[in-house]
Amino acid sequence: MQTLVRMIYPPRCLSCGGMVESDFALCPDCWRDTPFVSGLGCDACDAPLPGTSDRAELCDDCLTNARPWAQGRAALLYRDRGRELAMALKHADRHDIATPAAQWMARRLMPIRRENWLVVPVPLHFGRHLRRRYNQAALLARPLARILDVGYCPDALCRPKPTPQLKGKDREERFAALEGSLKVTPSRREFLEDRPVLLVDDVMTSGATLAAGAEACLAAGATEVCVAVLARVAKAS
Ligand SMILES: [Zn+2]
Ligand SMILES: [Zn+2]
Repeated sequence: MQTLVRMIYPPRCLSCGGMVESDFALCPDCWRDTPFVSGLGCDACDAPLPGTSDRAELCDDCLTNARPWAQGRAALLYRDRGRELAMALKHADRHDIATPAAQWMARRLMPIRRENWLVVPVPLHFGRHLRRRYNQAALLARPLARILDVGYCPDALCRPKPTPQLKGKDREERFAALEGSLKVTPSRREFLEDRPVLLVDDVMTSGATLAAGAEACLAAGATEVCVAVLARVAKAS
């Protein structure tokens, strides 16, 4: 059966569509051009840091503005093919990207995996969810929970109000606009109590949305929050 499927749908590179050896992969050229996060990263936001270290290091941004979460990991940098893949998942109905993307994220998260993590996606406002028909963060969170072999709760958080326009807003304005924007779904509160949470989103820019989500989980009794994103917007290094 698998052979038949492969004859009809030969595996294609996620990025360029060229033939590849196996499913869920990039061709060698695209793999080389995809900015995977590797080496030393900030322990809180995974922004690349110079050099090596045998202890957790924080970037200037996270040192200046303490994050409400404990640790954070990203699979890709949000530029070039990393940006293309994140955009395709979000806007182009490319659900086929989600499982391999979750595998890349899991590779980065394995060293910090908590046994009883509850994986929670950052939610969309229901109006946007209706228009887009899917939540890209949930597309990533579901296979990620399966690969990490931990719990998953797709609707632990909700976004009661539409997201305000953030384009052109600076860091402070983004944090102010998003503060309190994510809430714990009342019927899901008990799942978060006394449990560490892994909050998942597709892209991290300032981290304001993830901060709002982490604060909501902590207020509901989560013992700790870590964050995971497919792609991290990082200053050129
Ligand atoms: Zn390719
Ligand atoms: Zn950082």
